[in-house]
Amino acid sequence: RETAISCAGCGVKLQFQDPEQAGYIPEAAVQKEPVICQRCFRIKHYNEASSVAVDQDDFLKLLGSIGTTDSLVVHIVDLYDFEGSLITGLQRFVGNNPVLLVVNKIDLLPKGMNTNRIRNWVQKQAKAQGLRTIDVVLCSAKRNMGFEHVIEALDRHRGDRDVYVVGATNVGKSTLINRLIRDYSDMERELTTSRYPGTTLDAVNIPLEDGKSIIDTPGIVYASRMTEVVPRSFLGSLLPDKPIKPLVYQLNEQQTLFIGSLVRFDFVEGERQSFTLYISNALNVHRTKLERADSLYDDHKGELLGAPTLEELESIPEWTRHSLRVRQGEKQDVFISGLGWIQVNGMRGALMDVYAPKGVKVLLRDSMI
Ligand code: GDP
Repeated sequence: RETAISCAGCGVKLQFQDPEQAGYIPEAAVQKEPVICQRCFRIKHYNEASSVAVDQDDFLKLLGSIGTTDSLVVHIVDLYDFEGSLITGLQRFVGNNPVLLVVNKIDLLPKGMNTNRIRNWVQKQAKAQGLRTIDVVLCSAKRNMGFEHVIEALDRHRGDRDVYVVGATNVGKSTLINRLIRDYSDMERELTTSRYPGTTLDAVNIPLEDGKSIIDTPGIVYASRMTEVVPRSFLGSLLPDKPIKPLVYQLNEQQTLFIGSLVRFDFVEGERQSFTLYISNALNVHRTKLERADSLYDDHKGELLGAPTLEELESIPEWTRHSLRVRQGEKQDVFISGLGWIQVNGMRGALMDVYAPKGVKVLLRDSMI
């Protein structure tokens, strides 16, 4: 149920159902004055931003109205789910406004990585997706790594403009905004509202010292990410929280790896070579012969093969198969959105079948690492 009341902080229509959607307010809180949504309440009283989500249509309307402003657009993506969290088509919507690409969660990279190389990779990939960026900054909002570069980039590129922060859900947008509230904003002044013409969406404006604002937009939900198709109970195992320890497997053709009970990876054809898994180390990996894979899965999914549990599997879509071929001399990643990736590093060419829940984005890309 939507209520007829609007939030006195940000103007969004209030609703009692879904804490993760815009405008949520616990029923009891309507009695208090001023009537503000949970998101505004948190920012106001705890200086803490929380995330809300919207679907693609609402989000596109919102992006379109950013195009009519004079602002700096900060696009946050998740390094661990780069292709899954990049807002394709962003360029078309933001008009002439410059886009600063902030790549979050670099704390998950294996120890000792060359971040310059990663930055170049990001720049190249973003460009290939049609996104022109004024700058690319790598950081970890949660572990406070590289945050000084975020602030520097804001100072350098903002001029006297507002800052719109856009991103998919779960990329760490709230975590980052919370740091900005602490290190960059002027919370002595009141929160205000920003309205998007032609939509019911409103966003929270976090004041800056020069009278401009950081505008926190709702996160867009992309259904093609593993994080969106698994039950919440499984997210803890799916999302790494520490630097990833890559797992290297030497495989012969006709061998299979099960990643928990979630994904199946068949090395169908090619010379013996190594495959490196960049996935949460909380997931179980099991190797078997391809000819045994079907029956092994039927007999042991949700149990011996590891999580998700049988019960969790009930709510996850059936697998679809993706046949992928890496040509000889190429170093590529099999990217599985929200899960991580498998680097094919033999340079010997490989034919692979990947089974992943229906709807989850699976693709080949140039190796990140
Ligand atoms: P939002 O939905 O984009 O607002 O994302 P949140 O800020 O709520 O974060 C989503 C999840 O990612 C939470 O589990 C955070 O703890 C986690 N997270 C946020 N920033 C980082 C980061 O820099 N590194 C890691 N490893 N996790 C992060």
